[in-house]
Amino acid sequence: MEKEKGKIPMSSIIESESPRGLRSVLLNRRLLACRSCGWVHYAMTTEEKATSDRFLGRYQLTAQERFLYESAFRQCLRCETPADGFRMAEEADIAQAAGHLVTPVLVEAMIGTQ
Ligand SMILES: [Zn+2]
Repeated sequence: MEKEKGKIPMSSIIESESPRGLRSVLLNRRLLACRSCGWVHYAMTTEEKATSDRFLGRYQLTAQERFLYESAFRQCLRCETPADGFRMAEEADIAQAAGHLVTPVLVEAMIGTQ
């Protein structure tokens, strides 16, 4: 595994893929909070990931950029804690999340359900 870190502007991708707005996107979503900083993410479906991949396909990504893009779905956007350790988001987390864009994360089905 490479240790290089970098930022892909995820928010621009999500906003353009979600014209109906954040609220409708978040309905019936599994919301997960980062254990370290409390940043709220929503569990992305594999279908959405595929859509995002197609969107990104318009760009000529290098192997390194591709790696960073994939990693971004598996860690906290803010502090880079691995998404595997996320907990289920609680009311307080979600209330705080209203002030920031909730970001997608791709995790195994059981993450955040215990
Ligand atoms: Zn975090």
